[in-house]
Amino acid sequence: METLLTGKNILLGVTGGIAAYKSAELLRELQRRGAVVRVIMTRNATRFVSQLTFSTLSGAPALVDSFPETAPREIEHVELARWGDLLLVAPATANIIGKAAAGICDDLLSTTICSFDGPQLFAPAMNSRMYQNAAVQRNLKLLWEQGVELVAPVSGWLACGESGTGKLADPTWIARAAGWVIAGGPNREERRCLQGCRLLINAGPTREPLDPVRFLSNRSSGRMGYALAGAALVAGAEVTLISGPTALKPPPCRVIAVQTAAEMEQAVADNFAECDAFIATAAVADWSPVPSAKKLKKEDGAPALELQPAPDILARMGERKERQLLVGFALETEAGQAAAQSKIETKQLDLICLNHPERGLEGEETQLTLLDARGGMTELEGDKEAVAWQLVQRLAEQLV
Ligand code: C5P
Repeated sequence: METLLTGKNILLGVTGGIAAYKSAELLRELQRRGAVVRVIMTRNATRFVSQLTFSTLSGAPALVDSFPETAPREIEHVELARWGDLLLVAPATANIIGKAAAGICDDLLSTTICSFDGPQLFAPAMNSRMYQNAAVQRNLKLLWEQGVELVAPVSGWLACGESGTGKLADPTWIARAAGWVIAGGPNREERRCLQGCRLLINAGPTREPLDPVRFLSNRSSGRMGYALAGAALVAGAEVTLISGPTALKPPPCRVIAVQTAAEMEQAVADNFAECDAFIATAAVADWSPVPSAKKLKKEDGAPALELQPAPDILARMGERKERQLLVGFALETEAGQAAAQSKIETKQLDLICLNHPERGLEGEETQLTLLDARGGMTELEGDKEAVAWQLVQRLAEQLV
């Protein structure tokens, strides 16, 4: 399967924090997406994870020293910097962040960072008080102003036993961000095409209770909406993701977890006025049963299902829409295009993405037909991360 990282060369910088053990998993995620990875470690990183781990996984020596005893064929940091399509530092300690911000070059990694003129992505990880430290925050701001992209640490239980913000972002999300940063190209302004836009995205299925333990639901995985939320973050948007129950780890944005269509409607309605675009990827139930207060018993025989219409969230937001861009998703087993076209009118949409039922519900790949209110039509196909990036470009054309 072709992904945004297929055939891309990634220099993975590993620095000396306990999260270094997660870099091995990150390396595998990058490789799974088709990237070729070479590893540069700081001396301190080798105290947490051995060079052998990264050499074995990457199939090339994990490099540490800038001045090896044997004369190198080429100047190593320059050759490495030329080779890479992306320099990814994960975990990035306060120390490497400070050195990179100040342009200090005292080992192979910091020297390569200085020599690298392609896109750079840092994923900080440290104790939460260290992360809040004024000097660290200032250095992160400097790095950002120097053009470095950041995957913010998340909040959670830290290795030091404390809880707070400082935990390395999920390796899968770092690998995805790497794909979107490369796809966005070398020019930051073009890459951050949704800078300042506020996106409201709903995703996943809903669960409509039948009784206290059973529910009606559907096969939606939530992958498309989650990928769109992540891609939009890399493109500079402020994202609120309202999600029904899924098995996915959420992207590092504001996430509101809901179960039923009614709860999802409430969460969307509460956030709609503040958004510039609402993208309704969720497979919201069309009908909800009238739930029984007690568990339905087998002995009482098969229950008659009494169904009521669930709120049509997108249609309701269509009625409330002022300046907001509205994007719907549709999945039909027959006459999909005509149905999608008519939804543009009935729900007052700007765009609708028609899913092909054999592809797209649960897998990593999808095929979408994008229809707009003026009758335009575009076909998008590929893995959901690549399609999400194409959708982001399309949103930017209409929003910015
Ligand atoms: O009319 P249909 O359900 O096929 O339309 C699909 C689109 O409408 C999707 O974007 C879906 O998120 C949204 N929808 C909704 N509330 C419902 C049903 C669908 O917002 N109850």
